Amino acid sequence: MHIDRCGLLHGARFIASPNCDERPEGSTIELLVIHNISLPPGEFGGPGIVELFTNRLDPGAHPYYHEIAGRKVSAHFLIRRDGELIQFVPCGRRAWHAGESNWRGRSRCNDFSIGIELEGTDAVPFENAQYERLAELARALARTYPGVASVGHADIAPGRKTDPGPCFDWDRYRELLKHP
Ligand SMILES: [Zn+2]
Repeated sequence: MHIDRCGLLHGARFIASPNCDERPEGSTIELLVIHNISLPPGEFGGPGIVELFTNRLDPGAHPYYHEIAGRKVSAHFLIRRDGELIQFVPCGRRAWHAGESNWRGRSRCNDFSIGIELEGTDAVPFENAQYERLAELARALARTYPGVASVGHADIAPGRKTDPGPCFDWDRYRELLKHP
């Protein structure tokens, strides 16, 4: 698994999201932000996440979609329940995943982070395949962007966000990072 000069990860399926822009000049990538998402909430395997990130979500397809269909959001990566890895935004560009956020006194975390969505919820344990793919991805990112730290969305937007939630096993993730 490696990231090419265009910021694309070889080993991921690429589906371009229009919800991205240039990072501010001079910004470096210092942070991996781990999220969870499922659409409809609590349901896995459907097309909703890809549709949301590509502005193709049908607001009539589910009551919850009414609320979110107009949102312009994205993440760089999505890891599905079976470990499938999809990239939506090249790493060099800014994806729109963190929203209002703060890390060590710095706001607008989208400027200097990579957003990684795990298909899941706060209430359901993540799959082995997801931990393995996530660690593999994080190791590839760390080779390209040395020193990147990993945080949860809740860590940079406390009180507003809860993901990746209490089911995400940080110890296990950090062990996998150390021992491939
Ligand atoms: Zn999130």
